[in-house]
Amino acid sequence: MALFEVRDVDRRFYDEKLRDFLPEKLFDIHAHVYAPHKKAVRDSRTVSWPKLVAGWNTPDDLLETARLMFPDQSYRALMFGSPTDGADLTDANAYCKAASEKTGFPALLLAHPKMTPDALRDAVIEGGFHGIKVYLTFAPPQIQPADIRIFDFLTRKHLEVMDALHGIVMLHIARPLRLRDPYNVADLLEIERDFPHVRLIVAHIGRAYCRCDVGDALEVLSETKNMRFDFSANTNAWVMEQALRAVGPERLLFGSDLPITRMRMRRIERDGHYVNLVPRGMYGDVSSDPNMDELDGAEAEALSFFLYEELYAFRQAAEALGLSREDVRRVLYANANEMFT
Ligand SMILES: [Zn+2]
Repeated sequence: MALFEVRDVDRRFYDEKLRDFLPEKLFDIHAHVYAPHKKAVRDSRTVSWPKLVAGWNTPDDLLETARLMFPDQSYRALMFGSPTDGADLTDANAYCKAASEKTGFPALLLAHPKMTPDALRDAVIEGGFHGIKVYLTFAPPQIQPADIRIFDFLTRKHLEVMDALHGIVMLHIARPLRLRDPYNVADLLEIERDFPHVRLIVAHIGRAYCRCDVGDALEVLSETKNMRFDFSANTNAWVMEQALRAVGPERLLFGSDLPITRMRMRRIERDGHYVNLVPRGMYGDVSSDPNMDELDGAEAEALSFFLYEELYAFRQAAEALGLSREDVRRVLYANANEMFT
């Protein structure tokens, strides 16, 4: 059985909106790999719909996804585990290391803020990892989700280690205001200033999925020189355009956030937050999730992959700014590739 169904609507989407735009090679800076049959864990601080799309993503699944979705492109990815609350990080990192050896793709270590700096350094070096992936859910449990600061889950001690190693730090920022949150912006500037050799990647353009999530953050952050942004799981062309204006095509990177972007959906903005519109029933009962809603009939049948929507949004941003083929190739491949050569 195929990993997932590719329908006519998907082939048409690729043929009409992506095929002539995508370069020959894609480098995905943000892909998750994790084992099947992992015990389900509760994670009350994040949304629930990602778990409804894929229960695992083996390295073979990742390669098969790329083959199915991008028939004309070669594909590489930077991989890391799935940072779920309660997950066994040692197991997740061992799995990711094996996936990296199998595919030849680079990988990041999932890092818990409680790891000692020495343990972190050893785990990165011994595992052949290129840096760390940190996640807000590892912040101390007594901190309310709305109050989590970056340094609560990405410690200065760990940043010192990454600075010395010139390591990559993949960062998914917290807080309800997302990118525009002044504490997030201040903390990002502090990392940029104090850890100049860290190669920081702000995932999902700082979770700015709606126009209202941007505020003046990109304007302020445009003064930085190092930090990069990936647009994984982001389908907002306007936000991508602002990111390109702020940091240029040199510091924006394609990331997929696979496997969740295998989801069949399109995203809209409603009352200042994003809503994923999915075919009714396809992802279980989503009625309690304010970020999900369902479509029926012809509207549902017109839905294609989240990842296609993301790349098409980037195309619209690139075209709005008149990006050259070379600039597009940078964002979708070369910027990431250069980080590993
Ligand atoms: Zn992710």
